[in-house]
Amino acid sequence: MTTAADPYLLTPGPLTTAATTKAAMLRDWGSWDADFRAMTAHLRRALLEIAGCDGDDANGEYDCVPLQGSGSYCVEAMLGSFVPRDGHALVLANGAYGKRIATTLRYLGRRHTVHDTGDYLPARAADVERLLVERADITHVVVVHCETSSGILNPVEEIAAVTARHGRRLLIDSMSAFGAVPLDVRTLPCEAFVSSANKCIEGVPGFGFVVAKKAALAAAKGNSHSLALDLHDQWDAMNRTGQWRFTPPTHAVAAFIEALRLYKAEGGQPGRLARYTRNRDVMVDGMRALGFEPLLTEAWRSPIIVTFFSPDHPGFSFERFYELMKEQGFIIYPGKLTSVESFRIGCIGALDEAVMRRVVQACGAALSTLGVPSGAPAHVALEAREALAA
Ligand SMILES: *Cc1c(COP(=O)(O)O)cnc(C)c1O
Repeated sequence: MTTAADPYLLTPGPLTTAATTKAAMLRDWGSWDADFRAMTAHLRRALLEIAGCDGDDANGEYDCVPLQGSGSYCVEAMLGSFVPRDGHALVLANGAYGKRIATTLRYLGRRHTVHDTGDYLPARAADVERLLVERADITHVVVVHCETSSGILNPVEEIAAVTARHGRRLLIDSMSAFGAVPLDVRTLPCEAFVSSANKCIEGVPGFGFVVAKKAALAAAKGNSHSLALDLHDQWDAMNRTGQWRFTPPTHAVAAFIEALRLYKAEGGQPGRLARYTRNRDVMVDGMRALGFEPLLTEAWRSPIIVTFFSPDHPGFSFERFYELMKEQGFIIYPGKLTSVESFRIGCIGALDEAVMRRVVQACGAALSTLGVPSGAPAHVALEAREALAA
């Protein structure tokens, strides 16, 4: 999957991609050419199918709009296009990506209310219901599917149900979940969701995509503050011409087409979820045997990325641990929590349980080199987690 010199990326995008996905980029494509237009049409259809829409049905309720840029560009495009200027968004935040949504809305000048449940816990339907009843002017609920900063898997199904029951519209940041965690619009009613090329479909960075109700895309005309990030305009132009409005990331699209082929060959969403779940379970079991403790209780732990508390030992430093892991061929991720010291290990990308076993071995070797006898965290960290989960 990688050459000897390439480290594995245990990071939630960019991630380790298959050799054939990388090789698909060794050709140049003309953006207006019929071959490239066919590739764009193919990826839009394939993504709709993964979302549970019939990709061949021109009369379907949803459409897929790819957009240049990293995932955050597409989140901003979704918020700016679908939350009207007189709208009011309820943001369910429990980590850095939820907070980024609130920051984006502030930049866009869209009224918003943040419901923040901290690093350990998700918002639940009862809280959302209370907020929607209290604030009749809330038009949209925005939720992060897998909050990649902690790895928490938010209960989007119950959030979708309560949002629909109260006649509000749901927008989902499913960046790091879509493709592996089920997201079927037939059972999960939403106005739109967003994801990107370099997450669970295992493509390379360069673009993201929004799957949205056609009625919402049509109604979004004139909402956006930005020409480049106007989803209505991108959708309308793409449907009329088959082209991206501005220079498309041609090589990233070609890589994505190959990534989609591998995705299908693996058994689509169920196949991918099974491999990531196995990656996580093998890795968490091995890390626990070294004394490490995951931040989240099992109920909310995603198969995407796992956060571990840093060991409680003066010899431990994340920077040195990171370097020792890199020397052994593994790139890990620093923590992104507000209060406690932590680090993260991703389970996604072109890697399997045999790789995860070697990751655990490498963590053990790194601890030995640092003279840290166990990965066990401080008791206060565990107590904070337990107090909140109680
Ligand atoms: C990766 C990710 C994003 C987008 O991040 P970019 O760095 O802009 O690609 C947004 N939300 C979540 C939950 C993510 O995991």
